[in-house]
Amino acid sequence: MNVETKLAQIGNRRDEKTGAINFPIYHSAAYQHPELGESTGYDYTRTANPTRTVLEDAIATLEKGDRGFALSSGMAAIQVIFSLFSAGDHIVASLDLYGGTYRLFEQVLRRFSLQFSYVDARDMDSVEAAIGPSTKAIFIESPTNPMMHEADIHQIARLAKNKGLITIVDNTFLTPYFQNPIPLGADIVVHSGTKYLGGHNDVLAGLIVSKGEEISEKLSFLHNSIGAVLGPQDSWLLIRGMKTLALRMEKHQRNANKIVSFLKKHPCVEEVFYPEGIKGQTKGNGGMISFRLKKKEWIPTVLKNLRVISFAESLGGVESLMTYPSVQTHADIPEEIRRKVGVCDRLLRLSTGIEHEEDLIGDISQALDYAVNEENIHRNGGELDEIFHANHSQSL
Ligand SMILES: *Cc1c(COP(=O)(O)O)cnc(C)c1O
Repeated sequence: MNVETKLAQIGNRRDEKTGAINFPIYHSAAYQHPELGESTGYDYTRTANPTRTVLEDAIATLEKGDRGFALSSGMAAIQVIFSLFSAGDHIVASLDLYGGTYRLFEQVLRRFSLQFSYVDARDMDSVEAAIGPSTKAIFIESPTNPMMHEADIHQIARLAKNKGLITIVDNTFLTPYFQNPIPLGADIVVHSGTKYLGGHNDVLAGLIVSKGEEISEKLSFLHNSIGAVLGPQDSWLLIRGMKTLALRMEKHQRNANKIVSFLKKHPCVEEVFYPEGIKGQTKGNGGMISFRLKKKEWIPTVLKNLRVISFAESLGGVESLMTYPSVQTHADIPEEIRRKVGVCDRLLRLSTGIEHEEDLIGDISQALDYAVNEENIHRNGGELDEIFHANHSQSL
């Protein structure tokens, strides 16, 4: 079955009793046992909930893995995955990472004696050089947030396998519609379901998919033991969102391509970051764009004067959102590292929504015009002042 069909049909034919096309929301914390030693498959909703099961089965199928797990947020999902490791274990991670992931690694997991090294995952030599005797895993985003660096998942997974490490890929940006890390060799895929999978800026969720029996059992144990599971209502919202993922991703991408062309030609824009795709790895490049303005002074005016795009801190929804990474999503990354990666104070990140492209381009265009005009008014005002002062002092 093709991915569009799988998506549209999530939950259908699963409620045999009623034939409900939309799988019901099971708001029950506990389930009655038929008799001692028997179970309906459900006993307590932290362990399993029927609505959540539909979602977990769907994401496992979409990512071509063995088991799916739904969690209360993307961060909860990453925390559960890292609970696979023990004090003293070392992990190699992408240098450019979602700020919250970096914060979890450095400010939380480090206190439990996990060690992290950050490398440019595009460079296989530096990935290999970072692997030491206590390394247990490689964790990457591809493309990265916000610089859109693309790593070769197949090569990284092959290196990891040779060294006895597991490969974990954050697939939030491209979703299973455009990229499937597991067939490329990854052991674990993680998603912030809050983003494209939910797709409507209305639910916070995380998803994990694992490949292999041993790792799936361990994750299942941790998922239940830690308890940061997704509630039935939110599981249903995520299912509801995912049904239209294919349509949305196509439109996000079409809009993004138009906006990239516009930005590349704009005189205020210094550099545009948009994935180019890796052959055999990606079927599309998604809807995320970062771009660097020529002047930092333009940023506040641009953000203040957007009329269609919202200045807000998320991504992947039907509404376009613009973020200023250095003070928002990536504020917890030390300035030195941010600068090294390229997350400077002239960088903006756009999550392209599904609005009409003309309205989005028109909006960015008018906001940039505003910034330039405002600057000219200031500068002309300043120059006139200087001329006035110069003339005045001469006349004295
Ligand atoms: C948002 C995000 C996360 C964190 O997910 P939450 O649902 O906000 O907890 C992790 N990774 C990436 C790439 C993200 O964009």
